[in-house]
Amino acid sequence: MEYVQACMSLHDMNGPFLTGMGLFCVFKYIRHDAGKRTRFNRLHVKITFNHMRAPGEEEENMDYTTQMDAARKGILTEELKRVAEKELFEPAELMRLVAEGKAAIPANRLHTCLEPNGIGSRLKTKINVNLGTSRDCKDLEMELQKVNDAVRMGAESIMDLSSWGDTRTFRRKLTAQCPAIIGTVPIYDAVVYYHKPLKDITSQEWLDIVRMHAEDGVDFMTIHVGINRQTAERFKKAKRLTNIVSRGGSIIFAWMEMTGKENPFYEHFEEILDICQAYDVTLSLGDACRPGCIEDASDISQIEELVTLGELTRRAWEKNVQVIIEGPGHMPLDQIQSNMKIQQTICQGAPFYVLGPLVTDIAPGYDHITAAIGGALAAASGASFLCYVTPAEHLRLPDLDDVKEGIMASKIAAHAADIAKGIKGAAQWDREMSTARKNLDWERMFELSIDPERARKYRESAKPEKEDTCSMCGNFCAVKNMNRILDGEIVSIFDE
Ligand code: SF4
Repeated sequence: MEYVQACMSLHDMNGPFLTGMGLFCVFKYIRHDAGKRTRFNRLHVKITFNHMRAPGEEEENMDYTTQMDAARKGILTEELKRVAEKELFEPAELMRLVAEGKAAIPANRLHTCLEPNGIGSRLKTKINVNLGTSRDCKDLEMELQKVNDAVRMGAESIMDLSSWGDTRTFRRKLTAQCPAIIGTVPIYDAVVYYHKPLKDITSQEWLDIVRMHAEDGVDFMTIHVGINRQTAERFKKAKRLTNIVSRGGSIIFAWMEMTGKENPFYEHFEEILDICQAYDVTLSLGDACRPGCIEDASDISQIEELVTLGELTRRAWEKNVQVIIEGPGHMPLDQIQSNMKIQQTICQGAPFYVLGPLVTDIAPGYDHITAAIGGALAAASGASFLCYVTPAEHLRLPDLDDVKEGIMASKIAAHAADIAKGIKGAAQWDREMSTARKNLDWERMFELSIDPERARKYRESAKPEKEDTCSMCGNFCAVKNMNRILDGEIVSIFDE
């Protein structure tokens, strides 16, 4: 039996990762015991999160493997309690959703600085930010800056898609210091790590990388397990305009073609489940066959893969492994709603993680907008988790400005969907903004803006003659004039 004490001092945590999120320190004691975990005396002291517990206030001795296992046993974990607080849920209500697989709380037990968040269609829609080095852009500092910006702007999740350099050090740095949910795609990393021709990577080596990422503390992993030899054969017969556009999907398809072997993630799915169970890694079942253009949307390959993902979801839940399902991709507006319904039926309400959907193919440079349109409709129709898309999509690795544009577009889409879905507290934000607008209270409007910096910059760039209006209408300001007339004042627009 081994005791691990993960302790981060205020000095450690007062780094750039927490800019804008307040200080907190976490003391967490975990006892490793044959894949089970027992947590006790876990103390969180948070200054800005209003989440303070006194030492020993809740002495726990709880045996569970994953958040789903705990929920099924009726154990209230710290993570579930925290998520329930943020989502304005009764813990029992959230526990039921997690137990049923309709909500997931990705929380690797080795990611000790995690600020937990829940993903599920009845919860606030979450967004993910992709980043990581590539052969052509290997500036690690730039990627770390993107992490800081993403956390500061409120992204709940970060996926490290690094495919160049010392990926393990970067990944460990993320799980040691970043409070966002951390996701990875082990298949990319395997190619970098083994540094040999793709066809020479063995089935066992693919699985070993999954274990390594779990040991490094990642909270969820995308595993391209839905494309097996049968799906691949079907894909070859049912021709597509843009073939397979998923990076991981194309790698595993090529590997299967060159080796003649079954997808190792599919063949050894039980072993993957054992790894996920041991570390509480949430499986993100990857969509290798997501449509890469409008014309390929909802085709045989996409739907066949989804059926396989539905079967694998059931198997994961039997082992208490939490699951989220990845989805399209490029998709015309009129197909999004039905796709969300099909996913919910086939995958029994497992949280849906959509990559867009991009509603048209013709807008390179503006794909954060095409994705936000699709993402808003998808989330309003049941998707729980939006992967951001930046203006650089299809063109290059995003820079810092692209990341910001992508995050804001995604957050707006997520919030718009939350209003439509009636997510608790969502419409209240808009009500407060509208009240500030009616009162012509500019400071309050900046405070409530999704991007206060930009809102302030715009107003200051064109100062109005009258402070209680803006340069759009000046004395014709409808808000001001209506306030005055309803207060019994005289309104005289031209001579004021
Ligand atoms: S001046 Fe016009 S745009 Fe500006 S606050 Fe008044 S009504 Fe709105």
